[in-house]
Amino acid sequence: MAESEGNDDEGSAALTCAGVYLLQADGTCYSCKQSTPMFGVMGLPPFALEGGEYPIDEDECMFREIVEMPAQLAEAIRASAGPCFRPDFSRTAGALYWMNHCKHCDAKQGDFFVHGPDGPFWPYDEAQMDAIQATRLDGPFRFVDPSTAYSGAMVEWRDRKHGVQRPPPKAAVPRKKRKPKAGA
Ligand SMILES: [Zn+2]
Repeated sequence: MAESEGNDDEGSAALTCAGVYLLQADGTCYSCKQSTPMFGVMGLPPFALEGGEYPIDEDECMFREIVEMPAQLAEAIRASAGPCFRPDFSRTAGALYWMNHCKHCDAKQGDFFVHGPDGPFWPYDEAQMDAIQATRLDGPFRFVDPSTAYSGAMVEWRDRKHGVQRPPPKAAVPRKKRKPKAGA
């Protein structure tokens, strides 16, 4: 088959992760501007991919616009989020997905907003990082045709929580000075 032609024959891919963090943090309702809890799902490695052509990047761990929530996970989410996080239709996405809702006015809080710079899952400092609560749920959980995204801020949050020290970027390492040529 001509695998390189066209992007519409991806088929269905499924991503299985060993567990997830159910994330919770207070955000500001897009509509009534009051504080309301917002929820998100972060995949925890190891990941296994079926039917996908792309390599797995374990830092690409933030689930977005989840259409099919694994059943056990849906149960756990209902228990902690109640009606605030439930499937609903997004006109922007043109699809039904698991969406946050304001606890005061029930307005939909789309993932683009919740996971964007104005949402609670884009921490700017340690205080904002500490404000994100995480409940670890052990799977494995299998997500069908998932949409995952890389979030630098949330990867930093995860690494800090896990005590992971990353080496400084290579550009920050000072280069050795060249020896001046003799006689120059
Ligand atoms: Zn509201």
